Amino acid sequence: MAVNGKGPYDPQNIFARILRGEIPCKKVFENEWVLAFHDIAPKAPVHILIIPKNAYVSFMDFSATAPAEEIAGVTRATGEIARAQGLEEGGYRLITNAGTNSGQEVPHFHLHLLGGKALPIFAH
Ligand code: AMP
Repeated sequence: MAVNGKGPYDPQNIFARILRGEIPCKKVFENEWVLAFHDIAPKAPVHILIIPKNAYVSFMDFSATAPAEEIAGVTRATGEIARAQGLEEGGYRLITNAGTNSGQEVPHFHLHLLGGKALPIFAH
């Protein structure tokens, strides 16, 4: 069921629970800004979710309200994770679903990092 991406933020969403350690995840990376873990239903050989530690419903919320330092921190960490996963050679895709038309399911902002093979080009 897609979410609207605008909130209010639901502290019981599954990624909030992962951040609180209430649900396990296959952690890839963590620093002061982000937690990154393997997607439970991978769509590519590498499919990692990168989530801010703070509460944002979607990119709509994050891009409008996060402090510049945090936006930089999340962006920098995402690049570091892709590099550490060996994805720079072959390239990779970053996706964020925001709101109903995108099919966003989890109402905590996250980036999908996909790679490890030639990815299909989007149909329109
Ligand atoms: P989105 O549609 O952009 O909200 O994507 C949500 C993603 O979260 C999907 O790719 C799911 O497979 C993934 N997901 C849902 N629950 C979990 C979980 N417990 N651990 C890891 N990934 C999950």
